[in-house]
Amino acid sequence: MGRFNVVIDRDLCKGCLLCVYICNKRGGGILAESEERTLLGGALPKVIGECIGCRWCERICPDFAISVEVSQC
Ligand code: SF4
Ligand code: SF4
Repeated sequence: MGRFNVVIDRDLCKGCLLCVYICNKRGGGILAESEERTLLGGALPKVIGECIGCRWCERICPDFAISVEVSQC
């Protein structure tokens, strides 16, 4: 397991994919669009690599739906 865990709250996420955009632009490039849909019909992001803990995704999410936790192990 990596040093950071990315947690996406599927009840809060509307699927705007701003987090995916910024992760690929400024972060570790480890977020991508998934096939799953949110309640509002957007695309749920998914984690496809090891998070570097930059927290750009947290800062850009308008809905406080994504958070980065330091892994305990
Ligand atoms: S920025 Fe927030 S609301 Fe938009 S897709 Fe990412 S987690 Fe969901
Ligand atoms: S903390 Fe950085 S590397 Fe990790 S998911 Fe968010 S933007 Fe991507």
